[in-house]
Amino acid sequence: MAVAPPPPHAHDPDMPSPAAQARRVPVLLPMPFAGAFDYKAPADMRLRAGDIVSVPLGNRRQTGVVWDSQSALPPDLAQPAPNKTVADNRLRAVAERLDLPPLNAELRHFVDWVAAYTLSPPGMVLAMTLRLHMKGSAPAPATGWMVQSPAPTTLRMTPARQSVLALMADGTTRTTTDIASAAGVSAGVVKGLADAGALRPVLLEPARPFAQPDPLHHPPTLEGAQEDAAAALRQSVREKKFSVTLLEGVTGSGKTEIYLEAIAACLEQGQQALVLLPEIALSAQWMERFTRRFGVRPAVWHSEIGQKARRQTWLGAADGSVTVVVGARSALFLPFCNPGLIIVDEEHESLFKQEEGVIYNARDMAVVRGRLAGFPVVVVSATPSLETLANAQAGRYQRLVLPTRHGGASLPQTHLLDMRDAPPERGMFLSPKLVKDIAATLGREEQAMLFLNRRGYAPLTLCRTCGHRMECPHCTAWLVEHRNRQVLSCHYCDHTEPMPPVCPSCKTEHSLTAIGPGIERITEEARQLFPDARILVMSSDTLGGPAATAEAVAKIARREVDLIIGTQIVAKGWHFPHLTLVGIVDADLGLGGADLRAGERTIQLLHQVAGRAGRASAPGRVVLQSYTPEHPVMQALLSGDFDQFMEQEAEQRRPGFWPPYGRLAALIISADTPQAADEAAARFGRTAPYGEGIQVLGPAPAPLALLRGRHRRRLLLRTWRNIAVQPILHRWLGLVQLDRHMRVEVDIDPVSFL
Ligand code: ADP
Ligand code: ZN
Repeated sequence: MAVAPPPPHAHDPDMPSPAAQARRVPVLLPMPFAGAFDYKAPADMRLRAGDIVSVPLGNRRQTGVVWDSQSALPPDLAQPAPNKTVADNRLRAVAERLDLPPLNAELRHFVDWVAAYTLSPPGMVLAMTLRLHMKGSAPAPATGWMVQSPAPTTLRMTPARQSVLALMADGTTRTTTDIASAAGVSAGVVKGLADAGALRPVLLEPARPFAQPDPLHHPPTLEGAQEDAAAALRQSVREKKFSVTLLEGVTGSGKTEIYLEAIAACLEQGQQALVLLPEIALSAQWMERFTRRFGVRPAVWHSEIGQKARRQTWLGAADGSVTVVVGARSALFLPFCNPGLIIVDEEHESLFKQEEGVIYNARDMAVVRGRLAGFPVVVVSATPSLETLANAQAGRYQRLVLPTRHGGASLPQTHLLDMRDAPPERGMFLSPKLVKDIAATLGREEQAMLFLNRRGYAPLTLCRTCGHRMECPHCTAWLVEHRNRQVLSCHYCDHTEPMPPVCPSCKTEHSLTAIGPGIERITEEARQLFPDARILVMSSDTLGGPAATAEAVAKIARREVDLIIGTQIVAKGWHFPHLTLVGIVDADLGLGGADLRAGERTIQLLHQVAGRAGRASAPGRVVLQSYTPEHPVMQALLSGDFDQFMEQEAEQRRPGFWPPYGRLAALIISADTPQAADEAAARFGRTAPYGEGIQVLGPAPAPLALLRGRHRRRLLLRTWRNIAVQPILHRWLGLVQLDRHMRVEVDIDPVSFL
């Protein structure tokens, strides 16, 4: 599908007319304003929508983009236009058109669309696409010059200027130093010519370091079902039109192998492919796979890449020299000139949801980008989200299923350990049965893993004398003990304090007790139980970044580790061929709380962890320690019948129009004091929208009623699926006056209910 058709009276969408007659151009700035600002185009500057320009803002310069005078958004999404026009004589002029590739119409439309859907200022979405030089507002300095022809008519000629123009007449780009020495003039002459508009700046990039991935480098030999799935994906890519395919298959079934074939097909037809991974920093093994298949590494995009790589990748995406990008969610906003495919791997991951700034779900917006620009999107998971399954069932997504693991490897056997029957010893957390299992595994010189999704030593510190609980002063949260560092720390804000010597409430000495386990405490227990085992702890506290993570993973592969103890980091798509036993320390963790998706999320996470076991020839085993073995999540993990579990989930959500059977938006209202928060929330409550298929739940204190010192209240707007929530929210937000210290945040399709 192409970009939505412009209204009949519209002009060439790339020409900013009729504004061009008045030489008035809208410029969108990467800042939280309601829309674009008008600027005046200088007489000698030819500007088109998409051009990246530098404009005056207050007393500084700011980079922005010439925007479209007419939005192509569907009426449901069109934002109420800020209705203020600056008189011609008060317009300020565009200072400079930067020598950067313009943002194409498809990307501009996408920016507008995401902004409108998420109710964010369009400039904030634009900021995500302009990430290449967001450090400071000035563009990186141009390092070369090209002659501007024809030369400005007003140019004052001097002999020095003449010799520079004679030199530059061949059209070559040269640096200031080169010009000065070749023409025998000073650098000032070059600068003077540039200021007069006779030379224009050109960014001199070093030779692009991007070697081209070769689709024929090392194709795999696929098995029956794999080949069918790969053929279907290749077909979608070749159709060059919008479609969404769910590629579903148990861990180890070859999903990665297969979507690399879709990328190969995309490269063969000269188009660009983007792969979104939930946590790119943890993807060393993925890079190796890609390199083996295509001969070179792909371009990488995430928040921690350096400024130079960022620029090169951005420019390469824009000029087509970068053909494959693998990145975190922000890569979705790169200016691809010829996109042919987006893959969203681990589509169910909540990490695709950005929870701050522009609150958006990269998986869903990837589908939008595919739809607006007309190319296929493939979402991949062993445990697809209910949203995606519902789309597949409704026929909106094609569904490809790989039923078995590759190469005859069997899925791990699952055992439920009822902790009420086989409790651990006092003060311990591993059941004797699990301990025996681990000992046997290590005895066979195989690897074992313990999983607990909780950092630190203990989640709660309690005074045995007075019952006082150590809580964060800024958040509704317990402080987590980190015994290695001898501190208590809040996992929601930066608050950290030393472990107090006495109870702060009753002043009793030696009365503070650690309650419950974190991963440090499990490690302590494991060291006592298996003193000879080589233990490796994998959590964000012990692995300080991608390099350390890659090293840890390599150590495991080299069999220099016997027992791995980890948080959710270990759940990622690692391939550990010698790992045969996975013990889930607390399978019930994550099922408490009021989260709509608690069950779904627990099953996805635990299934993913379990999938690390037995990926090679030795069969794998998974042991789940649970105090509620009868819970449907435990039963589904035991039977492996994920489909049936999701069907039950669907049945629970359907009657109440919970997503995906209805739409949901959250309003998070916050203020400095509880009174102000209540007051603001009450104003929203009084003006709440109503009508058939529209319901507002709340206001109620958010589960994290205090977060980083702000008091928070929530309202949920729930509607039927065929009702667009954006116009309702616009009207509602327009009705409520907020005082300056009150804030409201809108979260469309919320996944976190904190
Ligand atoms: P998934 O992404 O579904 O977890 P992978 O694509 O990672 O599965 O495949 C699991 C393992 O099996 C990987 O080591 C992969 O290289 C290997 N594999 C899968 N399919 C094939 C194949 N057709 N030929 C060779 N190796 C394969
Ligand atoms: Zn805190």
